[in-house]
Amino acid sequence: MAEKEDFYNLLGVSKDASQEEIKKAYRKLSKKYHPDINKEANAEDKFKKISEAYEVLSDKQKRSAYDQYGHASTDPNFGAGGGFGGGAGGGFGGSGFEDIFDQFFGGGGRRRNPNGPRQGEDLQYVMDLEFEEAIFGKETEIRYKREEECDNCDGSGAKPGTSPQTCSTCQGSGAVNAERNTPFGRVMTQQVCPTCKGTGKEIKEKCSVCHGEGHNKQQHSVNVTVPAGVEDGNQMRLQNQGDAGENGGPYGDLYVIFRVKASKTFDRRGSEIYYELPINMVQATLGDELQVPTVHGKVKFKIPAGTQPGTTFRLRGKGAPRLRGSGNGDQQIKVKVVIPDSLTESQAEHLREFAQAGDYDEVVEQGDSSFFSKVKDAFKDKR
Ligand SMILES: [Zn+2]
Ligand SMILES: [Zn+2]
Repeated sequence: MAEKEDFYNLLGVSKDASQEEIKKAYRKLSKKYHPDINKEANAEDKFKKISEAYEVLSDKQKRSAYDQYGHASTDPNFGAGGGFGGGAGGGFGGSGFEDIFDQFFGGGGRRRNPNGPRQGEDLQYVMDLEFEEAIFGKETEIRYKREEECDNCDGSGAKPGTSPQTCSTCQGSGAVNAERNTPFGRVMTQQVCPTCKGTGKEIKEKCSVCHGEGHNKQQHSVNVTVPAGVEDGNQMRLQNQGDAGENGGPYGDLYVIFRVKASKTFDRRGSEIYYELPINMVQATLGDELQVPTVHGKVKFKIPAGTQPGTTFRLRGKGAPRLRGSGNGDQQIKVKVVIPDSLTESQAEHLREFAQAGDYDEVVEQGDSSFFSKVKDAFKDKR
């Protein structure tokens, strides 16, 4: 379809022409091109175009919509590419009105009543936590900027002492009707009111603080109780701590997203904590009693004699609190036997003696490959 000619150009009037001028221009041109009078080939087409231009420009609402949205405002498919973005191709048919509003308000659900209360936007806040803070939780205050109801006008957007009026263009409905001739006959469509942008209200004297918005960005603080046992990536919803709503609607929500720092000592999955305990081969062989760190403090731990590398022990209840449920998880201790990479001559001599004593050679022969693969597997699931 060819680009539509500008309605003002068609009638040969300026953009700020009075209603009287428009009427005059139309009368003159319609006489000139009326198909009963003018028998030129394109006369009928021209006559139709002039009539269409006049139909829009002679109507205060339609003219205002046309001034703002151009030809899109007179199209029954208004919105399908006409300035609201995202409208792909085909018309909206009978449900055009709702679809237009959905796009207009950023897809925030169906809005039958455009000037009804609307909830404010949800916000996000990323909270950094130390490894231990996530385990034990904490009380803290966070500060961030959000849209708050304007103190100066109490959210009305109107200068104090005045109040918003019902929009004179749409009588408060937020939408205007437009009639249009189509090949299928006369079609009535509804469009977002160009005067009030769908709010149904007109503010004659705007609040000087919020410029008629009814809300403005302000610093806001809120106390947050971080629950014990949160994990990296968990989020928590704080009701009504987001942006202010429109037309008396409630505040949106705030989503606090936790970002938990890693620990140098521990790994954590849910309520389970993993700790790798390095011991030497003598401790592994003869057993020992030592202090093992946990997030709850040091704990006495007995290594049994003959402990193999990669063996896992469990310290019950020494893990992180269960976020859903009660009590703590466990701390798992994975034994890592550290083989010395240098020995004194005396140590080496003792080991040689040890090897010759008893039936140690037999022990080594028993150490088949499955033993080593077990060790490897044990370390593999650390990662
Ligand atoms: Zn309006
Ligand atoms: Zn204000």
